[in-house]
This record gives sequence, C-alpha cells and structure tokens, in this order.
Amino acid sequence: MALLIDIRDPEWMEEQALKDILQPGLPDVDIFCGDPGDAAEQIIMLAAVKLFPDVVRGLPNLRLVQKLGAGVDGIVNDPDLHPEVKVARLRPDLPAHEIAEYCLTYVLQHQRNVCFHQDNQRQKRWQTRAPRKSASTTVAVLGLGHIGARTAQYFAAIGFRVLGWSRTEKTLQGVDCRYGEHALEGLLAESDYVACILPSTSETKNLFNAERLSQLKAGAVLLNAGRGDLIVEQDLIQAINSGQIGGAVLDVFQTEPLPGDHLFWDHPAVTVTPHVSGWHLDDGLEDIAENYRRMVAGQPLLNQVNRQAGY
Ligand code: NDP
Repeated sequence: MALLIDIRDPEWMEEQALKDILQPGLPDVDIFCGDPGDAAEQIIMLAAVKLFPDVVRGLPNLRLVQKLGAGVDGIVNDPDLHPEVKVARLRPDLPAHEIAEYCLTYVLQHQRNVCFHQDNQRQKRWQTRAPRKSASTTVAVLGLGHIGARTAQYFAAIGFRVLGWSRTEKTLQGVDCRYGEHALEGLLAESDYVACILPSTSETKNLFNAERLSQLKAGAVLLNAGRGDLIVEQDLIQAINSGQIGGAVLDVFQTEPLPGDHLFWDHPAVTVTPHVSGWHLDDGLEDIAENYRRMVAGQPLLNQVNRQAGY
C-alpha cells in the first residue's frame, strides 16, 4: 500500500517538499511523487490539487483522493473516478484567514477611497472625499463554511452590518444568517458588497447570471474568491458597463490563467488577482498523513467531502 503525490506546480509546492513533510508521520509507507511507474497497483491514496487526465485510470486500487486545498470541483465528478473512491479536502485555518483578509482589503479599499487618494497623490492634488461608514454599510457573505463564516465574522467585528447566506440554516454571532435560494434575492438587494465564497457545484454554477446580477443593489461591488464558474463573466461585464453594479474584485475565473485578451484585464471597475486570495496550507498538511492512517484503519476520515453535494 502506498501514497502518491501528484502536484506538478512547483510554484505552489514541490512534490518532494510535501513528501518530506508527510514521511515522518507515515514512516512505513512508500510515498511516490509524480509517475508511480510499476508501483501504480500499490497506490491507495492520491494527494493532488487536481486530477490530471489518465492518472486515476492508472491506479486500480485507489481508495481516497485527498485534495490539497478546499475546492473539490473537478474531482468529485471526474468520470474516471470510481463512485466508491472517497474524496477528502483540507480545512486549514491559514488560508481561511487569508481569504477573509483579502475580502476585507478590497472592501476597505473602496470604503476609504484608496485608489482616489493614490491617484491624487501622484498628481499632487489635495482633494478630500469622505470615507464611507462601516456601520451604515452592508456586506453579504455567500457561503458560511470554513472560510465564509470567518470572513463574515471579521466584517462584523469591525462594525459592518453583515448578512450571510448558506444552503442550510446557520447561526453566527453578529451575522444575520439566511439560507436557501428563496432568501438570496432580498439579501442581494440590501448589500453594498457581496463576497462570494461558495464552492462550485451543480447548484451554484452560473449563479450570477444577468437576472441574478440585476438583483444586486445599484452600485454594489461583487467580490469572488470562490470559483470562477459561479459568475457568467459576460453578464458581469454588462452589469458593470450598464451602471447596474459598481464593480468587481475577482480572484477566480472561468479560465485560469485569465486569457490575455480578456476584458477584465483593462476594465477600470474590475480588480483582477491571479487566484491568490488563500495560499498557505501549512496548518492543514498534517491531516494528509492522518487521513492515510484513518483510511487504512477503517476509521472516519477528516473532512470527507459529500461527492453527491459536490463540496
Ligand atoms: P465549505 O464547504 O466549508 O463551505 C461551503 C459553504 O457554501 C457552506 O456554508 C455551504 O452551505 C455553502 N453552500 C454550498 N452550496 C450552496 C448553495 N447551493 N446555496 C447556498 N449556500 C451553499 O467550504 P470553504 O468555506 O472551505 O470553501 C468555499 C470555497 O472557496 C471552496 O469550495 C473553493 O471553491 C473556494 N476556495 C478558493 C480559494 C482561493 O484561493 N480563491 C482557496 C480555498 C477555497 P452549508 O453550510 O449549508 O453547507
């Protein structure tokens, strides 16, 4: 029995570096990086950021895919992945904190007119503009899971009015929590900022189409740190260009890397970041070795994903 690490993105983490982290917790386990070659039949667990074509088909005894991150879209429904294969994700605190920081950064940038003042400084122009009051600003956080709940509470802690939205009923101190599709329209109409931290599932894909975007409060700013396919990008550009909404802050896109000719790059009301809002997984990596041990012992896994629900 063995573990395979398949990342192929040295910018994010070297496979060998992850092996060095995991091996002490799994001293008797063979850990392979990249192509397992003749050892493919030994592999019972795959640790990966995404499933590359043909990898799963070559692992006949695979029992668990451990996502190195949170979003499992692209894994749970992979046609090559046998329905019996379990999928687990990581739930580290650091990227949850980082994504909450990301949302705070760009909301506060708007609240405090940061771009306006930077521009004036470059032109040596002394011009005042009142900052907006947090207490009279409403932030909606869509998705109240590991990351969204923390984000909502950070906004509440510094005095914003915060609305939260999830699939099932939730209670969070300082957050007006609502749930279910029927609750979304009213919530959008009340919010000055909408921070989207939802997974991509069959229910959330293309959530922000033209009709949904028209439900946002006039001038509202949409932030997306969930997944790119939650938004119909052409509809978003139209909603901004028509003046319906004020702008967007986007960390995730339908196609990544964002193509060079995409309209988002040059749009004055769109902020583009290259899928960096949550980055450091350090405090979650221990769980990979723990899940290997649990799987072999037949114990419940940490952070197992519901493949049917898609998250
Ligand atoms: P969780 O699974 O902990 O939470 C997901 C939340 O979304 C839950 O509150 C869930 O509701 C809600 N939700 C799911 N489906 C629906 C629906 N149909 N309607 C309303 N609410 C829904 O995930 P995380 O918070 O850990 O992560 C969220 C997503 O963030 C990830 O799936 C990933 O796509 C993205 N992400 C992006 C990163 C980046 O760098 N940009 C980094 C890490 C994650 P309920 O609580 O009722 O189940």
